[in-house]
Amino acid sequence: MSPQTFVIKVNPRAPQKRLILTAAEVLRRGGLVAFPTETVYGLGADALNADAVKQIFVAKGRPLDNPIIVHVASAADLDRLAENVPEEARRLVDRFWPGPLTLILRRSGLVPDGVTGGLDTVAVRMPRNSIALALIRALGRPVAAPSANLSGRTSGTTAGHVLQDFAGRIDMVLDGGPVPVGVESTVLDLSRRPPAILRPGAVTPEDLAPLLGRVVMGRGRGGSRRSPGTRYRHYSPRARVTLVEQNDQEAVAQLLHEVGRNKRKVAVVTAGHPFVGPGKAGLVVRQMPQDLGEYARRIFAVLREMDELAVDEIIIEKIEEKGIGVAIMDRLKRAAAR
Ligand code: AMP
Ligand code: MG
Repeated sequence: MSPQTFVIKVNPRAPQKRLILTAAEVLRRGGLVAFPTETVYGLGADALNADAVKQIFVAKGRPLDNPIIVHVASAADLDRLAENVPEEARRLVDRFWPGPLTLILRRSGLVPDGVTGGLDTVAVRMPRNSIALALIRALGRPVAAPSANLSGRTSGTTAGHVLQDFAGRIDMVLDGGPVPVGVESTVLDLSRRPPAILRPGAVTPEDLAPLLGRVVMGRGRGGSRRSPGTRYRHYSPRARVTLVEQNDQEAVAQLLHEVGRNKRKVAVVTAGHPFVGPGKAGLVVRQMPQDLGEYARRIFAVLREMDELAVDEIIIEKIEEKGIGVAIMDRLKRAAAR
């Protein structure tokens, strides 16, 4: 394991070439580099180096059957990694890349087994982040990168989060500041009919419908088998998470009463309005932004903060499942699953 993790601040508007070349060199010799994307930080390795990819699983404690998204810097790279690329994939790439849309396609022989967890498909996306793109271009090869967090924890959305999980365990972190989207990419399975959204993200079903016609949510039959990552406990703060309706003072009072007897530390996370429920000594309250885009940017940081504050119980108000609200609620439900 790496004895020291170098943290390098990079200007996201004009990534310094020298710094990017240094990071690419680390990847070239099989190391791990965390870098910002527009969604969350990624933990990157040379996607065509099976040993390097293996190190991602080791560092994260990730189950080996949970495949990793391959990041590319141009649409043309899609054809090296995937076979039988359907026409609709081209349209989606034209419209949404670079951006938070991952496509699942039949894999080519170039992709190592370790990347796909043994599946016959590969997940590919082109991130909308100048540091990520510069890094992939400097390496001259695709970069395999899952979210930069220990398996099961919330995704890192700042370099500080990445260090909480990986200081001393990876070679380098490129610090490009906090990420703009805050939740992971939409994962769209184009290897079957009709196309299915395996993970909701910032690219919504309404965005996809005009280009795809029918698109279904993939959490139904066989959904978790198709996207193994969705099978595992995820986005979990150490605290127990309970979701409640907005402004449901009764439910909050009931929960506070229950945990009060056990003297547990409790937090309430409200949706875009001040907390109006009953008070409790030591109660932590966080009011989330009304704007759902801003909510998405902040949610993982708030869940991580709860860990730092050693909160035992988090009561979170549900939000409207509209637009990116679908992706946020997906993460909240999974944080609450036990
Ligand atoms: P992350 O590890 O946070 O980057 O999440 C990647 C997600 O994409 C996980 O839920 C994976 O299961 C999913 N994924 C990656 N590759 C594939 C694939 N070939 N087929 C289905 N899902 C995939
Ligand atoms: Mg992840």
